[in-house]
Amino acid sequence: MTHAFFQPPAASRFALRNLRAPRCLVATDLPGNPAGELAAIDLLIDNGRIAAIEAAGAMPAELGPDLDASMVLPGMVDCHTHLDKGHIWPRQPNPTGDGAGASMATMRDRTARWNADDVRRRMEFGLCTAYAKGVVAISTHLDSLAPQASISFPVFREMRERWAGRIDLQVSSIAPLDIFLTDEGRQLADIVAESGGKLGCVTRSARFPGETMPPDLDEALVRVFTLAAERGLHLDLHVDESTDPNARALIRVARTAMAQDFTGRILCGHVTSLALQTDEFIEETIAACKDAGIDIVSLPTVNMYLQDRSQEARTPRWRGVTVLHEMKARGLRVAVAGDNCRDPFYAYGDHDMLDTFTQAVKILHLDHPLGDWIRAATETPAAIMGIERGVLKPGTPADLIVLKARDYSEMLARAQFDRTVLRAGRAIDTTLPDYRLLDDLMRA
Ligand SMILES: [Zn+2]
Repeated sequence: MTHAFFQPPAASRFALRNLRAPRCLVATDLPGNPAGELAAIDLLIDNGRIAAIEAAGAMPAELGPDLDASMVLPGMVDCHTHLDKGHIWPRQPNPTGDGAGASMATMRDRTARWNADDVRRRMEFGLCTAYAKGVVAISTHLDSLAPQASISFPVFREMRERWAGRIDLQVSSIAPLDIFLTDEGRQLADIVAESGGKLGCVTRSARFPGETMPPDLDEALVRVFTLAAERGLHLDLHVDESTDPNARALIRVARTAMAQDFTGRILCGHVTSLALQTDEFIEETIAACKDAGIDIVSLPTVNMYLQDRSQEARTPRWRGVTVLHEMKARGLRVAVAGDNCRDPFYAYGDHDMLDTFTQAVKILHLDHPLGDWIRAATETPAAIMGIERGVLKPGTPADLIVLKARDYSEMLARAQFDRTVLRAGRAIDTTLPDYRLLDDLMRA
């Protein structure tokens, strides 16, 4: 059973008429269309692709249904996730709800239980959920401390092949920075290269566990950039995910990139502590990121969950998110993404980029006006991943999310459980996988 609220015509060529699309995502001129955040459009779909986009009313009624101002979005893009951690919460919760508790709980679960079958089945569950929600591309980190990389990367490669045509999958490693000062780091870079992945790490060192600015930071960063450059890899880093204002690694990443003349893409996630710096230091850091061509992804739901948490029944005093408005205003490419899902880093989540965007609007005040912020969950993360997705453009696949909601107010106020998801112009089954499928993996 699916909750989709309409079925498109069965013909291979048909129109969906009288839709509302975010204007910033419509890659076609619509002469005479009134200004505003949404454009009124008719979409012509032919053989699974968008064949034409015209102002609403332009296409003849016999071509297809009038959707009465329903919103249409392109398939959404999640550029920072952890599919390998997903859904372990029932067997391995995080008793403290903070980052340190999350790391410890995850390590315990990983060393005891992450064989290939366990990782595969939880990843599959996450992908089935994301697909049903209308997500078309995902980049996942994989916990990469030995021996896990040699278990998880082969599983990922198999999943990438099996899901090709449904979800474009990308991968990056994640490990403490200092392993790149050892031979294990070189071997990991080779596994990443063999897997067509991005090299990733956190800006923390296992040798200095409590330090948000470990003494080996600069030396290890140089090594990470060198290993990536030698193999032609892009970088995908977890940076300054902390409530500690001493965590100032982002500007060091930017300066290392400049000093090394690094030519790959660099995506930095989190950078929560930047929001706790002086305005001057924020400006200096953003300018350095701009010079180095660094892209930023904010993970608002997870940041709000983990940051500023106390064990003493103390109310959190800040939202835990980075300075995304300032970064976008200075011309950085900024995205929002889902990050963790039902694991010790985030007890909740459902692989739903539309929900992530909706929450991002509220957590980060992306509203009044919303402007083109929807790009941060669609076109921009696609550009950051180097793929053409997240836009409504003639010639691209008709991978669409059609909502009953007629405008942003209706879309952002109500959970969009009854969305219709079209892939190549056909409605897919949007029934979500049952948690019971994972019950046998959750036993003690
Ligand atoms: Zn993450």
